[in-house]
Amino acid sequence: MGTLPNKLPQGVYYGGAWHRSSSQQIPVYSPSTGQEVAKVDSAGEEELEAAVKAATAGQKIWAKTIPLERSRVMREAASKIKEHKEELARLDALDSGNSLRGMLFDVDIAVTLMEFFAGLATEIKGETVPVGAGKVNYVVREPVGVVARIVPFNHPLMFACAKLAPPIMAGNSVIIKPSEETPLSSLKVAELIGGLFPPGVLNVLNGGPDLGAGLSTHPGIASVSVVGSAATGRAVMRQAADTLKHVSLELGGKNALVMFPDADVEKAVQSAVKGMNLPWTAGQSCGSTSRVFVHESLYDPVVDQLAAAFDAVKPGDPLSPSTEMGCLSTRGQYDKVRGYIEIAQNEGARMVAGGDVPEELSHGFFVRPTVFADVTPDMRIAQEEVFGPVLSVLKWSDYDSLIEAVNGVDYGLTASVWTRDISQAMRAVDDICAGYVWVNNSSDHFLGTPYGGMKQSGIGREECLGEMLSYTEQKNVNITFEA
Ligand code: NAD
Repeated sequence: MGTLPNKLPQGVYYGGAWHRSSSQQIPVYSPSTGQEVAKVDSAGEEELEAAVKAATAGQKIWAKTIPLERSRVMREAASKIKEHKEELARLDALDSGNSLRGMLFDVDIAVTLMEFFAGLATEIKGETVPVGAGKVNYVVREPVGVVARIVPFNHPLMFACAKLAPPIMAGNSVIIKPSEETPLSSLKVAELIGGLFPPGVLNVLNGGPDLGAGLSTHPGIASVSVVGSAATGRAVMRQAADTLKHVSLELGGKNALVMFPDADVEKAVQSAVKGMNLPWTAGQSCGSTSRVFVHESLYDPVVDQLAAAFDAVKPGDPLSPSTEMGCLSTRGQYDKVRGYIEIAQNEGARMVAGGDVPEELSHGFFVRPTVFADVTPDMRIAQEEVFGPVLSVLKWSDYDSLIEAVNGVDYGLTASVWTRDISQAMRAVDDICAGYVWVNNSSDHFLGTPYGGMKQSGIGREECLGEMLSYTEQKNVNITFEA
């Protein structure tokens, strides 16, 4: 099920060069075989200090680079990533266990977002405010400085690329910290595009939570953002408090898909399957619609159809182009998902699909797509983020209790509403507490639209102009002149 395709650069990347680290190396395992495929350098305190110093120097040069030149470089970076699409997707499939198909799609998304932000170069605009005769008042946006972006394991390449683009386009330098579980593709990213920017503008440091904490506390870093779990988001916010950094957080979800009695059942069921992102990441997606609320009038047939649709999705070798769904990305994920399957059964939920591990794939972290029916809102399976291929189906009859249950979780990332009645849809959109809501759709992100969550799902919005502007500071200038 795959070995490392090509030689990867050795070391950590900062200041426009590779540096060997004296810190412990990180072993990298293929989750589909359990075998070690590489060892990569992790950054210790010494490398962190040197990287921040290099990023500070690089940022000063980059901030003075005119926006159209920044655009040109970012577009060149995007096309380099595009040229190496197959290789990058293979690295991610090997490292994360996500399907090759899904990871090819991730490269497309990465390129699209890099190009999108490249095109926004001239949108870092200020404003003028009228303050009376003899004075001019204007506001300019300046970069914040050095930005640290800490990313998770589920979309390694896509997050590395999509998260470096907005702060760099705003004139900042960036230190990307990939997940210690999936460090491979970001090394390749640094190799491919690091040299396009002035030294120190793009830096990639591999390491675990300790490095994340080092970045969040470092006085030379102005802004830290994390895509990860709510627990990590809270830790980063605490760590960043002493140096009062800008903080933005894209965290977990326990997202609802609601079927009203008049829903187009066939499409809604398809959307509930699509909403779980099984072929993409084996359900390891923050936006997965993992709680499906079905009106009692539709309940039994919908449960049957969901079970059949989940049974039809077969896990297989992540690196095979024909594989529909890969495996879970880490042993921790595998144990967690299997633990939740057991918890749900003990809580009295009815397992109608999956739940087991395919025997022929027992060498890796494979779990069949699983559906639990008769889930009630108080069960742990309905409250906690599983982050895997496990769907809970809940029956509802009364609108107010439905909304109470939909909103009765700590998270508020996405929601999907299925009805043909526009008034019903708009009422539900108003009542549901979530940052990204689909009516008669799920899973898709639309270019330029703000993605992010409410409550414990995070702070801030990404994939939009606002994300780029969040890496700027406003400076107000007031000039008095002789009129
Ligand atoms: P995680 O929180 O364990 O790790 C994410 C990153 O944070 C990793 O790079 C990790 O090394 C780092 N980290 C961990 N502890 C840290 C600490 N104390 N200080 C600083 N950095 C630390 O998350 P994960 O298991 O890699 O990813 C799964 C989580 O990510 C899920 O909760 C999922 O919902 C969330 N996620 C959210 C989005 C979104 O856009 N909202 C997207 C993808 C994933």
